[in-house]
Amino acid sequence: MPLRRASSLILLACLLVLPSAAQTARQQRSLEQAVEALEEGRNREAIRLLNRAKGRQASAKLPQLLALAHSKLGVELASKGDLRAALRSFQAANRAKPGELGLLLSLGHLHIRLGAVKPAERRLREVLRLSPEHPQALAYLGQIAAEEDRLGSAGDYFRRASKAAPEQKQYGELATRMQGQSEVEAEFVERRVGNFVIQYSASRELRAVLPQVEAWLKEAQRELHRSLGRAPEGPMYLVLYREEGFKKVSHAQHWANAFYDGKIRLNLDSSEALRSEMRRTLRHELAHAFLHELYGELPLWVHEGYAQMIEGKAARSAGSRFRNGEEFLRGDLFENGFASSQDMAVVAKGYAQSLMAVGSLTRGKNLPRFRSLLAGLAAGEGTEEALRKRYGLGMQGMLERARSEK
Ligand SMILES: [Zn+2]
Repeated sequence: MPLRRASSLILLACLLVLPSAAQTARQQRSLEQAVEALEEGRNREAIRLLNRAKGRQASAKLPQLLALAHSKLGVELASKGDLRAALRSFQAANRAKPGELGLLLSLGHLHIRLGAVKPAERRLREVLRLSPEHPQALAYLGQIAAEEDRLGSAGDYFRRASKAAPEQKQYGELATRMQGQSEVEAEFVERRVGNFVIQYSASRELRAVLPQVEAWLKEAQRELHRSLGRAPEGPMYLVLYREEGFKKVSHAQHWANAFYDGKIRLNLDSSEALRSEMRRTLRHELAHAFLHELYGELPLWVHEGYAQMIEGKAARSAGSRFRNGEEFLRGDLFENGFASSQDMAVVAKGYAQSLMAVGSLTRGKNLPRFRSLLAGLAAGEGTEEALRKRYGLGMQGMLERARSEK
C-alpha cells in the first residue's frame, strides 16, 4: 500500500512536471523564432511569438525583447506616417519594460507631433529625471515652450541643449533666435481683426500697410473657408516684421520671406517689389495655418502642395518637368524631408512635385475627397493607406497619374 501510494505520487508529480517541461520547450522555441523574426524586421510576427512565450517559465529576456519588438514596430509605423498606431506601439513597449530612456523620448516626441502637449511634457520630464541634461529632451521642451510663446523659457532650454551637445548647431541657433524674437517683439502692439491677432511694431510704415494686409487676409480666409469647408475657431496669429527684425527670428528659413511656426511670420519690407509678392505669400502662409489648426500634423508634401495652390501657382506647369522624364524624389524625402534639405535642387523639386500631387488630388470634383484625405491623415492613417482608401491608388500610382495629366 505505501509503495503503491508512493508510485502514484510519483505519477502525479510527473503529470505536473511533464506539461511544464513541454511548455518550457514550446516557450523556448517561440522565443527563438521571435528573435529571428525581429532580426528580419517581421515585427508583428515577433510580438505574436513573444506573447506566446509568456507564462510561468518565461525567459528573463522576454520583457526586453517584447519592448524591443513593440518599439521597432512603432518606428516602422511612424515612418509610414501612422502616428497614432506608432504611439500605441511605444506605449505597449513602455508597459513591457517601463522607464527606458529612449522609449520615453520617443513617446514625448510622438505626443508633440500629435499636438498633445501635457503628456509630452510628462514623458520628457521623466527623461530628465534619468538624465538631467539630455539634449534632445531639453530641445523638445524648448520647442513646446516656444509654441506656447514662453520665449525666455524656450531660450533657456535650447541653451542647455546646446551646452550638452555643442555639435548640434541648431540648438545654439534656436537659443539665439528665441533671444532675438523676445527682443524684437518686446515692444510690439496687437490688433484684433475678426479671429486674427496681428502683432507688429507700431512704426508709421507698418501702420500704413496694415489696411491692405487686412484686406488680403480676409480675402484669403474666405477662400480657404470655401476650399476646406470650415475655418479654425480659435485665434490665428500674424506677426509683421521689418527686414532687420525678420532676419533675427528666421535663421533657418533664410531663403523665405515668411514662415509659419504656429504663427504666421511675415517680412513686411516696404519695397514695392516685395509688396507685389506679399499677397501671394500671405495666402500661402494662411493655408499652412488653416491646415495646422484644423488637422494638426500632416505630411510636408500635403502642406506645401496645398499652400502653393492657394497662393495661386499653376499645378499643371509644375508637372511638366516630370513629364520630361525627371525622376520623383525618394519617398521619405517627399513625405516629410525636402524643405529642410541643404540641396536647393531637392527643395525646388519637392515643391514642384507636391504642387503637382495636390493639384491632381483636388482636380475637378475631387475637393470633398481631398478633405476626407486630410481628415484620414489627421486621424493617424498612413499616407499610403489614406490615399488608397479615397483614390484607389498609392503614392507611386498617384504621382504617375498626376504626371500624365496635362
Ligand atoms: Zn510653405
